[in-house]
Amino acid sequence: MDHSTEKRALSGLDLNELTEYVKALGLPAFRAKQIHSWIYSKNAAEFSEMTNLAADLRERLTRDAKVSLLTTANLQVSRDGTRKYLFELPDGKMVESVLMAFQDRASLSACLSSQVGCAVGCTFCATGYLGFKRNLTSQEIVDQVMSIQRESGKRVSNIVYMGQGEPLLNTEEVIKSIRMIIDSVGIGARHITVSTSGIIPGIERLAKEKLPVTLALSLHAPDTETREAVVPITKQYPIKDLMKSLRQYRELTGRRVTIEYVLLEGVTDNEYQAEHLAELVRDLHCNINLIPYNPTTDPGKPDGEPLYRRPSIKRQEKFKQIASLSGKTVTLRLERGTDIDAACGQLHNAYQRGRS
Ligand code: SAH
Ligand code: SF4
Repeated sequence: MDHSTEKRALSGLDLNELTEYVKALGLPAFRAKQIHSWIYSKNAAEFSEMTNLAADLRERLTRDAKVSLLTTANLQVSRDGTRKYLFELPDGKMVESVLMAFQDRASLSACLSSQVGCAVGCTFCATGYLGFKRNLTSQEIVDQVMSIQRESGKRVSNIVYMGQGEPLLNTEEVIKSIRMIIDSVGIGARHITVSTSGIIPGIERLAKEKLPVTLALSLHAPDTETREAVVPITKQYPIKDLMKSLRQYRELTGRRVTIEYVLLEGVTDNEYQAEHLAELVRDLHCNINLIPYNPTTDPGKPDGEPLYRRPSIKRQEKFKQIASLSGKTVTLRLERGTDIDAACGQLHNAYQRGRS
């Protein structure tokens, strides 16, 4: 793709940035408000749609700028309606985002990526096997939601930072994107969830924002030995310290946290681990979300065999029953989009394989 034309993309900029942009063109500030409203309230994809701007201004903007920063390189639609987008970034790198619809709810959730690849390297996660490429900018994060809205023609009502990457290793841009999603896109903080593998400085930094954003901790094992094996960052941020930072998060934001727990047969789904989990979270205000393992493969290995096994429904239910003894609400996550590899942990940019 030719990147030499370099038109300025306006979607994913906040009102201040848009005001600076129009001022640099010698236009009055209220033009920024109009453009802001066309982009975020009306999902405009082209300047030609912005009918309250004079025709010559629309043409000038079309020459100088573009609406979307991201290009949709591929879109897959699952049998259950889940849509998986492969977006090309301005430097040619790719990320994936997912739009999930749940039959029992009218709301739509967008699952956003925060980095290209991920450095944490959890042993069951496809993104981990990509390695870390780079952080996304807040504009690249916000334009994922806007590109989804423009393409689908639907309004997103919930945001989860559960796509590719570790959001709390890109904390400043993620916080900036959250602020913009609240102020510009118009989605309330209570409808936003940040999921982390347990980066304590990032949790503390996010807590300082005092926003009622839900924090989800990807715990996956209650004991240090197992957690160190599947989530390597445990060596840096031990479980005990993590629990303390979750309690602080709760105190500062007033929000209950979510504990995410991947069920890997024979590795994390043993009954004694369910008991240990119940014990560990007893005095924490939290919900527990069990995620049955979604098949992933190691791209470096040719056999294509899944890395782990998903436990039987019976084992899943047993684990749930024991974990519920903690008195917490325990749910088994409804899987979405498995037929198009759009479920948790399956985002690996397959379309791009073989490209540099
Ligand atoms: N990096 C962040 C957010 C992205 S991953 C984090 O780790 O929390 C979103 C969720 O999907 C995490 O809970 C992650 O552990 C989970 N996940 C990763 N691989 C998975 C797999 N193969 N099956 C099920 N869940 C998986
Ligand atoms: Fe990174 Fe999250 Fe995947 Fe772990 S589960 S490798 S932290 S994206």
